[in-house]
Amino acid sequence: NVITVCELANKMAVKSSEIIKKMMKLGYIVTINQSLDKDMAQLVAEEMGHKVTIYHEDKLEQDIMKNRDISNERVQIRPPIVAIMGHVDHGKTSLLDYIRLTKIASQEAGGITQHIGAYHIEVRKKIITFLDTPGHAAFTAMRSRGAQITDIVVLVVASDDGVKPQTIEAIQHAQAASVPILVAINKIDKPNSEPEKVKNELIKYNILPEEWGGDNIFVNISAKTGEGIDNLLKSILLQSEMLELKTTISGMATGLVIESFLDKGKGPIATILIQEGTLKKGDIVLCGLEYGKIRAIKNSLGKEVQFASPSIPVEILGLSGIPIAGDKVVVVGDEKKAKEVSIYRQMKFREKKLTKKSSFKLSNIFEKIKKDKILELNIVLKSDVQGSLEAISDSLNKLSDSNAKVNIIGKGVGNVTETDAYFAFASKAIIIGFNVKADFSAQRIIESENLDFRHYSVIYHIIDEIKRSIHGMRSPTY
Ligand code: GDP
Repeated sequence: NVITVCELANKMAVKSSEIIKKMMKLGYIVTINQSLDKDMAQLVAEEMGHKVTIYHEDKLEQDIMKNRDISNERVQIRPPIVAIMGHVDHGKTSLLDYIRLTKIASQEAGGITQHIGAYHIEVRKKIITFLDTPGHAAFTAMRSRGAQITDIVVLVVASDDGVKPQTIEAIQHAQAASVPILVAINKIDKPNSEPEKVKNELIKYNILPEEWGGDNIFVNISAKTGEGIDNLLKSILLQSEMLELKTTISGMATGLVIESFLDKGKGPIATILIQEGTLKKGDIVLCGLEYGKIRAIKNSLGKEVQFASPSIPVEILGLSGIPIAGDKVVVVGDEKKAKEVSIYRQMKFREKKLTKKSSFKLSNIFEKIKKDKILELNIVLKSDVQGSLEAISDSLNKLSDSNAKVNIIGKGVGNVTETDAYFAFASKAIIIGFNVKADFSAQRIIESENLDFRHYSVIYHIIDEIKRSIHGMRSPTY
């Protein structure tokens, strides 16, 4: 099924109700959101006097891309984009907050820094942009979608705790993406701080300071007292100079979505980072599955600006829907064609979703148990309160027997987040939500990766359903 009644109506510039009436005459009862297959869509369009062209593959997209102005004049140095990674509780958030509070407030009066997913600061007349989502989730989410935005990873390691599993994970992610790692040894204000020990532990992962023959910069810091932070920023600029980051600021812009949400009054809002060219108010963009005419551009102080240049995070308004992190933003010349490409992409997205089968659905778990003899059922569990979280996870753990093992691989209080969804995807887990929903960004991942997300409000129902599933019994639908 390739197009909905509503989309077809849009394309033909008629009301959906006209199509519905026409189809009724032809003997089909359809609703406005119903998908029609190619033949059906062609039939009804022709019946209504339209000429039908079925676009071959990506011709539409190729056409619109061919007509972009991508002048390569005016190549300039661009600011580095920095991601802060490291083990939980090692001080990533504290570091981001410290830099934001001490370096932005004084710069521009009147604006209040907003959390828009990234911010930029000025040191020694140079700009550094920080991705404002600590941890690996954002980094891996982007990378799993083929998007690479980070120029430098600052690896935060607490000097009183040393190298830990997520430290190693962060190193692996950064190295796989060939992004240079700058080590910030944190919490040096603590009496039990052992920065030299951290240095030694990191040798194993091929992270060495220059004096030991390596090429990693090490800085001792305290995100609490601020000690060493200026030095860290200086080192980031130094690393950035070595990378010789350049881009063109002329021509139509391209960029990436960092995060997005729906504002009840203003509609879809996306934070983006421009990679090339300059984005202007009024530009037409294609953005993932969406398109739009840029109605407003806002900087991270919430102020409206007319332009956005490379590496400076801005929010854009005017998109047809909410894109997701990692979606490419491309300025194009023609709004009507942009709309067509967007419809076409949504169609392809739906087709892909329909053909994509997830192998770790609760409904087919028993088949796998029979086939593989023993099976592990991985679960990411989210609940509204701590009490029920513990109660549910205890009961689920007790369901393990010689045939099937139930593993709660992640649990927490609160909505299902993007991180939870990616974690479940990577670990082939089902997601259980008890009295909680999935965040918007999580929903998109659940949808596009065809994950099994189950929502419950009665504990007994969860236990019963999992029990039945691993024993191959049909369960009532809750
Ligand atoms: P994250 O999980 O990596 O984002 O870590 P947080 O920034 O939330 O920090 C975890 C805890 O360590 C918090 O209680 C912070 O106040 C504390 N912390 C972070 N940096 C420092 C530091 O440099 N010195 C001290 N003494 N505590 C710190």
